[in-house]
Amino acid sequence: NLESLYKLIEKSIQLDPPINIKKGNFIASGVSSELDELRKISKSGNDWLVDYQIEQQKKYEIGSLKIGFNRVFGYYIEVTNTHKDKVPKEYIRKQTLTNAERYFTIKLKEYEETILSSEVKMIEIEEKLFNDLNKKIINYIDKIQHNANIIAKFDIACSFAELSRNKNYCKPIISKKNIFKVKDSRHPVVEELLPSTESFIGNDIELNSSSKQIAIITGPNMAGKSTFLRQIGLITILAHIGSYIPASYGEIGIVDKIFTRVGASDNLSGGESTFFVEMTEAANILNNATSKSLIILDEIGRGTSTFDGLSIAWSITEYIHEAKNLRAKTLFATHYHELVELAEKLKRAFNLSVAIKEHNEKIIYLKKIVIGGTSKSYGIHVAKMAGLPKEIIYRANQKLKELTRPNKENEIVKNMSQVDLFQEKNKVNIPELEDINIDNLTPIQALKILDDLVKKYRDEL
Ligand code: ADP
Repeated sequence: NLESLYKLIEKSIQLDPPINIKKGNFIASGVSSELDELRKISKSGNDWLVDYQIEQQKKYEIGSLKIGFNRVFGYYIEVTNTHKDKVPKEYIRKQTLTNAERYFTIKLKEYEETILSSEVKMIEIEEKLFNDLNKKIINYIDKIQHNANIIAKFDIACSFAELSRNKNYCKPIISKKNIFKVKDSRHPVVEELLPSTESFIGNDIELNSSSKQIAIITGPNMAGKSTFLRQIGLITILAHIGSYIPASYGEIGIVDKIFTRVGASDNLSGGESTFFVEMTEAANILNNATSKSLIILDEIGRGTSTFDGLSIAWSITEYIHEAKNLRAKTLFATHYHELVELAEKLKRAFNLSVAIKEHNEKIIYLKKIVIGGTSKSYGIHVAKMAGLPKEIIYRANQKLKELTRPNKENEIVKNMSQVDLFQEKNKVNIPELEDINIDNLTPIQALKILDDLVKKYRDEL
């Protein structure tokens, strides 16, 4: 119970204090009699100023005469040039403007001194009182933090509850199995941002470590791949922090880490190229992920030329599939539809794609994730939709036909699929082996030779 504390604050600070405490006027009245007294002087001073201005206007018949204040010159009487000749001798010149003069009088100067000194004094007193109050509050710090903690937990629980109820979330089954399975899952943010005429299409997916470790998701740009990937990441986090999830069903295995390589955090301002950032992040993922991790890769390899990119994407996927201590559940979105073939080759990889309907030369995005890969990339359709000039679209179609005619790309991909990176590793040539006669070796000698060979060929192995 912090009643004594809030009473203390209520008594000490004005109900609606100014934001900037440097200017004072935030300590409540009744706290310090000295402060109250000075405030009275300052207030009556204001009245005095108004009276003085009226008095001077009448006395010298200058209706536009006014008294002002600025930080550099203090208080002044301002008279426009029109009335300059009416200015009495007792006015002392202070500052000249383009169309007015500023003066002070002995009386105004005296007033200024009293007011300014009382203002300085007031600020000093308020600051001291404020510091005293802070010192008292510090004694309550443990209790304040204790309460803040409890309120924070309530706040989270209430927000989760409200969200789950209003947005139709479901309670996931948290599993010790290496699995991720959701039905009708949605992206919690994109769902909110869609215009009211569109509804978010829910999607299903199952990943597990035994048969469905890697999902390769193909589909044209704008199909909804990134959204899907991110929603899987978000749902995993939501389930882990004790929230319901935007889906109609969810079974979520506990993960140790979520690794992502998505476009949002490219450090372009830091002078690193997109591709370099992409590769650094990929390296970090491959070196640190475990079989309990979730890896989300969006368009990896996009930052370089098609064949480089495709080859890197290809070998990264193979590595995640084969490396013994990795085998993380992985979602890999790509518009390289050539990778569809890879999923057919790898035992625990499978293809998903985002459904598209072609209609009168137009494509309709269905935003539905379906089993199987796509064979078309529709890049030119997307460019057309985005409003590129007709001539460019026409020329691009021409060029596409030209480029795909000899089927160069397919050939390369075909060759690539014949190279098994993991077998390739064993093909290191070790001439020393030919000179060894195992029958003549003692176990110690054999060990020594083995040790030497390992040292020599470690990098190649
Ligand atoms: P991609 O990564 O395939 O280029 P995005 O994920 O960026 O495509 O999706 C393109 C747009 O489609 C998004 O901005 C989003 O508004 C919308 N969208 C994505 N997924 C869905 C969905 N499941 N239902 C409805 N709209 C979606």
